[in-house]
Amino acid sequence: MTARALFISDLHLAGERPEVCERFYRFLREEAHGCAALYVLGDLFEAWLGDDELDDQEGGPLAAEVARALRQLSDAGSLIAVMHGNRDFLLSARFCSAAGATLLSDPVVMQVAGERVLLTHGDTLCTDDHDYQRWRSVARSDQWQKEFLAQPLAGRRKASRALREKSKEVIAAKAAEIMDVNADAVRGAFRRYGVRRLIHGHTHRPAKHELNVDGRPCERWVLPDWYGRGGYLLVDDTGPRLVSF
Ligand code: MN
Repeated sequence: MTARALFISDLHLAGERPEVCERFYRFLREEAHGCAALYVLGDLFEAWLGDDELDDQEGGPLAAEVARALRQLSDAGSLIAVMHGNRDFLLSARFCSAAGATLLSDPVVMQVAGERVLLTHGDTLCTDDHDYQRWRSVARSDQWQKEFLAQPLAGRRKASRALREKSKEVIAAKAAEIMDVNADAVRGAFRRYGVRRLIHGHTHRPAKHELNVDGRPCERWVLPDWYGRGGYLLVDDTGPRLVSF
């Protein structure tokens, strides 16, 4: 059997959506079983308020269950690599160690099935969304994270709910193109990293896009979200293909 690498993102796992959590555990036991690598390219969780979610009782056992499920795959010999999304950028060393996972920086170039591939969550490519990019630079600052994590978990949970409610309103009022990737940002990424293949999530617009960058044929693969049926990208010796459930 050839080495398989699987890519998922935007599962948005949450205690309130047990069906998607079950689908994820089944995916780990079945599709991902025996894979060389599982890449989680951001937004595994609907929200991550800090690694102390692992011992949280009030929020339910989700965090610890997910870590344990990933750990099983890692213990069986698969590489588990996790990247931050815009919802779970506070995932940190303790979660990774519980999950047997490596934390990837965003973006990162990895060797996948003999090809250098650029991996990113995808939000940094959405450069037309100025409000979001402003918020992102605040939320990714040490200062903001230090102050946020200093609050008790219950306070963080409340703040995060309010943010998500607010963001729903903002998103509903925005044109769809603004929340998709910017074509120049995409070309810029292919140029900067000298790759022919890019894999990202975030936009919830699963597709394979072929484009030409300075005479080089390039491919941009967009992963599906799991709000719908969900799915993943499979890369093996025959190349990548999107699989939906
Ligand atoms: Mn996202």
